[in-house]
Amino acid sequence: MLAALPAAAQSLGGSARVDAEASRITSDRQMITVDLALSQPVPYRIRHLPSPPRLVLDLNTVDWGALQAAPGPGIRDLRLGVAANGWARMVIDLTGPYRLREAGFSGTDPGSATAPRLSLRLERDTLEGFTAIAQDEDRFIASYGDALLHPGASALPRSAQPLVVVLDPGHGGADPGAERDGLRESDLMLAFARELRDALRRAGGFEVALTRDADVFMTLDARIRAARAAGADVFLSLHADALPDGIASGSTLYSLSEEASDQSAAILAERHDRADLLAGVDLTRAEDAIADVLMSIAQVENRPRTDLLAESLISSIDDHGLRLHSRPHQSGGFSVLRAPDIPSLLIELGFMSNPRDLANLQDPDWRARMQAALVRGLQDWAEADAALAPLRRR
Ligand SMILES: [Zn+2]
Repeated sequence: MLAALPAAAQSLGGSARVDAEASRITSDRQMITVDLALSQPVPYRIRHLPSPPRLVLDLNTVDWGALQAAPGPGIRDLRLGVAANGWARMVIDLTGPYRLREAGFSGTDPGSATAPRLSLRLERDTLEGFTAIAQDEDRFIASYGDALLHPGASALPRSAQPLVVVLDPGHGGADPGAERDGLRESDLMLAFARELRDALRRAGGFEVALTRDADVFMTLDARIRAARAAGADVFLSLHADALPDGIASGSTLYSLSEEASDQSAAILAERHDRADLLAGVDLTRAEDAIADVLMSIAQVENRPRTDLLAESLISSIDDHGLRLHSRPHQSGGFSVLRAPDIPSLLIELGFMSNPRDLANLQDPDWRARMQAALVRGLQDWAEADAALAPLRRR
């Protein structure tokens, strides 16, 4: 049933590992047992799904290692994967209505002589019995995602790959950005980026780099180059600009487009590009000539990913009870977002011209909530994006 390959010595900080050689998955016409040896106990959840009958085991967080399985009397197929947020999923396609009777960890006591083991026992039931406890599939997908649920699905890697997030604190050095009450946008954004970097690292599953980690001027091109050098999966440029009275308040996310979505987007795009000019930067930009050619091609694929990123972050900000702009997803000609192959957003966390936003930006509790919202939004996006990857490649 279960063939163990030579275990590759590969360890991921924070994740538990499955010891393939010490694990067993067996089945007969009456019973299925899943017995996993793990390097440490982890939270898990188990669901039954109908038509066809499947068992879904999610673990947080696990590297499946060399675990393998072949079909048997109770098991038609078995798929394993790890989402970018670290949740690992096993889907067993059952040959009939096998129903979970027992599940639990053993060997978890401190000083236990044996490794922690997660054991599941499923017994053959009637179709009615199985159907009665099975989840509604649509609701399951809405809550837990659909990766791996269907035969042929193999969207996820078997080991958690960290998502590389590049944070770009706006402005810096000779360009302070907006200024209010003696505060500079460049300083606020550097402090926010450092806090967000720590929050992402604490959450696990992320590698984080900053385009600048000091009060220095950087051209917009240099910021994109820094993102590329770090191997960015996602690029977030962080801002809190000031705009004329009354036209902007609340968090707003901007993606790249030729036409500005509204007046504030047009002002912001023009203003951020002008900082390069004022600093006397050489705008020859040989790289951009190439990028422009590639852009239309790469963006066909990248734009839906970027839109999904914006939507994931917006719903998470909303879920965390934070105030959004009345039209939270806008677009404009922001040069810093021009990397054609990296989902990139410019986030106005708030506007320094709005008194409430300015107070929020200085409030450690508000910042911690916003950082938690962005962490969760990135996790949600990573999972959804991985699930869509096989469709993109077609
Ligand atoms: Zn700015």
